[in-house]
Amino acid sequence: MSASDEAPPRRLLHRQPGDGWVTCGDHRHWGLHGAGGLFLARGERGTPVTHVALQHRAVWSDQGGTWGIPGGAVATGETAVDGGLREAQEEAGIDPADVDVVGTHVLDHGPWSYTTVVGRERAGAHVDPRATDPEGIEVRWVALDELDALPLLPAFADALDALLALAQEEGVDV
Ligand SMILES: [Zn+2]
Repeated sequence: MSASDEAPPRRLLHRQPGDGWVTCGDHRHWGLHGAGGLFLARGERGTPVTHVALQHRAVWSDQGGTWGIPGGAVATGETAVDGGLREAQEEAGIDPADVDVVGTHVLDHGPWSYTTVVGRERAGAHVDPRATDPEGIEVRWVALDELDALPLLPAFADALDALLALAQEEGVDV
């Protein structure tokens, strides 16, 4: 039996309207209204990015065992940004009040999209990300020089440079 055959804990099934698979060409994605997540970089706006908050994803989840950002399906009537921040609170204990949103990055597949909220720790806030639901094996600050050694979720790995540039507000006057 492969890891992907393992069932998620029952209480996670259909936990909100918006949960469900969307067919997209020859593959499928989670989130009837798309999905969203939070890419949170340590330190306040304008300071160099040293760490990002990542989630080691449960083996039963889609592409399980890889590292990515906390996130999930956008709920009915919710914006993708609000969905990403809510999921980060549910899965990683990150209080949206501690997040300074600096931008968004959208992966658009047509019938489905993933919106990454890019944020910095709000000045004076000290975020302690941690796994707060069974979707994450572990959630923690990961140093940038550790990233190469971790098995990253492929879609996250593809977006990483763009996300870091947004978090660093490169090319943007602040
Ligand atoms: Zn797709």
